[in-house]
Amino acid sequence: MESQKGCYLCGHRRFRVVLDRPAVVPWTSSGDKARGRRRFPCILRQCLDCGHVYQPVSLSLRRELAAIYSSDRAQMSTTMGRGCWGKARSDVFLKDFFRVVNFLRYDSILEIGCGDGYLLRELKKMGGRGLAGLEPSLPSDSCRNGIRLIKGFASEGVRLPRRYEFLFSAYVMEHVENIRGFMRFCLANLKPDGEMYFIVPNALKAMKDGDLSLFTHQHIQYFMPSTVRRLMESYGFEVLSLREIADDVEVLGRWTGRLVGKLPIAGKFGYEARLRKVMKRALRVLRRPPVIVHGISNSLNNLLGWQSGSFDMALVDNDPTKEGKVFFGKTAVPTAKISLAGYRGVLIIPNTYAAAIRHEYEVRSFQGVISDLILEDHEG
Ligand SMILES: [Zn+2]
Repeated sequence: MESQKGCYLCGHRRFRVVLDRPAVVPWTSSGDKARGRRRFPCILRQCLDCGHVYQPVSLSLRRELAAIYSSDRAQMSTTMGRGCWGKARSDVFLKDFFRVVNFLRYDSILEIGCGDGYLLRELKKMGGRGLAGLEPSLPSDSCRNGIRLIKGFASEGVRLPRRYEFLFSAYVMEHVENIRGFMRFCLANLKPDGEMYFIVPNALKAMKDGDLSLFTHQHIQYFMPSTVRRLMESYGFEVLSLREIADDVEVLGRWTGRLVGKLPIAGKFGYEARLRKVMKRALRVLRRPPVIVHGISNSLNNLLGWQSGSFDMALVDNDPTKEGKVFFGKTAVPTAKISLAGYRGVLIIPNTYAAAIRHEYEVRSFQGVISDLILEDHEG
């Protein structure tokens, strides 16, 4: 049964189908042991009024997601600042953030969805003032080294003890089902003329690339530059900067209270057609076993879940938090610990870093086929 009655951004009911794929078990990076059993459909819609792409959430999926978020298997990839990938991710984020945000200008800053406060501690080291974070998974409220951490959700009706000059969030809003309530929270806790920055995955880029990683049950909102602009402007923010960087889209806006009229909706994406090409590419390698599959992620969860049959494969991933865990019935090993002899192919799952991963196998003189899932321009 569906609980969502229309577009999450504008409420409009008419849509076109962007993705409709067989049900899979919702992806988390905790491995098979902690994994739920229930499969949920993989559906994306595009609103025919505002162009927003979203996953319609059923009541049962909402319950499953709540169970995932309240467990220790919440992370899709790696916590910001933790492990080698987590550190790299936060360094990249901060570099982009500092390019558009002069955070030293603000006397009060709130991060929405701050995790354990890693980014706030980095800002503090660099002279940030009046720092606070809001996060539902914190054990309790705390105030340490000048950083206030508040346990809670950014929901409509929530008023914090003070208003902030600057609000920001990194990779949070794509998870939020009630996005309009989230924006109303922001308006209620932002000072007049305050500024807001957020960064989310760029669904437009992923659709153009036929990227298997686009869909994940934990993501409800699939933003792109046009809908990010529309979201900001429909809540009275003047967009100061809007950029597509790597796989993401980031925006900085100042609240002026001036509402901007509708923007034209984005056209058709052709995502399913590109996805079919990408899956064909993957199957060409998987059907010549035994193979090494490099990169354990929601992309692989989708790839294996969206077609039938099982494959003779070894799973390789260099993320130390995955080593030794069992995924899809196989134990994850790092590249350094696998003997390449006897394998007929390597399938590289992530698009980001695909070239670097390919290089690892080339320097070890791997004799089989090395294939990634990046479509050539003429294929798109
Ligand atoms: Zn809409």
